[in-house]
Amino acid sequence: MTKNSSNTMALAPHTSNRRETVCIFGTGDFGRALGHKMIQSGYPVVYGSRSTQISNLIPKDAEVLGHAEAAQKAAIIIIAIQRQHYNFLTPLAEVLHGKVLVDISNNLKLNQYPESNAEYLAQLLPGSRVVKAFNTVSAWALQSGTLDASRQVFVCGDDVEAKQMVMNIVRALGLTPLDKGSLLAAQEIENYPLQLFPMWRFPIFLSFGLAAFFFIYCVVLDIVYTYIYENNNFSFFIAITIPNRVCPVMALVLLALVYLPGIFAAIIQLYRGTKYRRFPDWLDKWMLCRKQLGLIALAFASLHVVFTLVTPMRAFARWRTNNRIISQVLNNETETLDHTNAWLSDSYLSLGILGFFLFVLLGITSLPSVSNNVNWREFRFVQSKLGYLALILCTAHTLVYGGDWFLNPSAYKWYLPNIYILSLIVPCAVLVVKFVLIFPCIDKPLTQIRQGWERNPKHSE
Ligand code: NAP
Repeated sequence: MTKNSSNTMALAPHTSNRRETVCIFGTGDFGRALGHKMIQSGYPVVYGSRSTQISNLIPKDAEVLGHAEAAQKAAIIIIAIQRQHYNFLTPLAEVLHGKVLVDISNNLKLNQYPESNAEYLAQLLPGSRVVKAFNTVSAWALQSGTLDASRQVFVCGDDVEAKQMVMNIVRALGLTPLDKGSLLAAQEIENYPLQLFPMWRFPIFLSFGLAAFFFIYCVVLDIVYTYIYENNNFSFFIAITIPNRVCPVMALVLLALVYLPGIFAAIIQLYRGTKYRRFPDWLDKWMLCRKQLGLIALAFASLHVVFTLVTPMRAFARWRTNNRIISQVLNNETETLDHTNAWLSDSYLSLGILGFFLFVLLGITSLPSVSNNVNWREFRFVQSKLGYLALILCTAHTLVYGGDWFLNPSAYKWYLPNIYILSLIVPCAVLVVKFVLIFPCIDKPLTQIRQGWERNPKHSE
């Protein structure tokens, strides 16, 4: 999160006890909820309404007047009315002249109008000082007090003093204002409540697509192949065995996909010899959803841990162990300990545990409450250095697990590589290229480019 002045000011609450009267146009759901909260915070509230009849829904201590009369009583007027009714404000232009008008409106669709509602209001009433605020807070949250998820209030406007007055009210209500700049930012602020997990869409679709592919791949090789060639029915693998193959593979591939765009960015910067040209759109979007990709990878890694822990409870695992013991008894043999195998098994488990620990650490430091408490260098150290270490450990975990079995022809059913071999392609590619990038002869020019040096300054567009 940006550490800006508004956050700093949130720590220093408005100390004056005297609150100025605030006028709210509209006695609908939002107008009533906001009025109620303002009265609780010590603001005298006067409503401007088409009907001056007091209903028992309106906060007890509030006054209800006609629009013009109510507007005269306050310097700040909150317009709790839908945009399509804003025309009724034009005849009030004179009384609203010089007043701070707070536009809180939202739309039903993204970019519904050519200009934002706040800009439209400013065009209708050029003598007033329009500020956009409160649109990301819901009436329900204001009324029920469950504001934890939406304590932040985006504020924007062209008049700095008007914006400060609104931000003071926001703070007095126990909320945190976030200054988004001029009224030009209003469109973005109005689109914000209409977005449905925008940064998660691509990572979720990608994860579903990849998981479905790997799942079907495993079903074909582990169930269909065994049924056709070995006449064994292992269809129950669908419940735990296959998910426990898909989850680690997904975790590893997605973790590698978190670091792959950084590799592409470095190659592009080296090729162009400058950092002052925009990356292609697809790369920009990919870089912006790295955190989401990482968190989904962590979810798959956690599922892998749980699936692995329940393995000894499975009837199939118990049957296999019992069978081995019985066959040793029947043949009067004792299996000797294979030290190489013991080393491999302990090593891959240990690598997996360490990799998962770092995975969790990466997930925790990406939480805003934690990342806000570390500086940029510390954050980069964890996300980049420890992130690569997690990728190395998880790749090594898979490599050691596969061991020389990857080289065994029986691992290639229908000439197809095992899912674990597939999962290693992207992580190994990322690690190899990263290794090349840290060679001094490449790292030095790259660092210079990132510090602003250009190979051919005239070349930049
Ligand atoms: P609402 O319940 O429908 O209330 C709108 C109010 O506007 C009415 O109660 C009415 O007040 C007034 N009004 C209606 N038609 C009018 C007209 N032709 N001329 C003048 N005034 C008229 O809507 P709301 O949910 O309170 O939403 C109000 C605004 O807040 C909207 O722009 C909405 O996007 C925004 N908002 C709402 C929420 C929310 O959770 N509800 C959250 C964020 C932002 P009088 O009868 O007193 O005149």
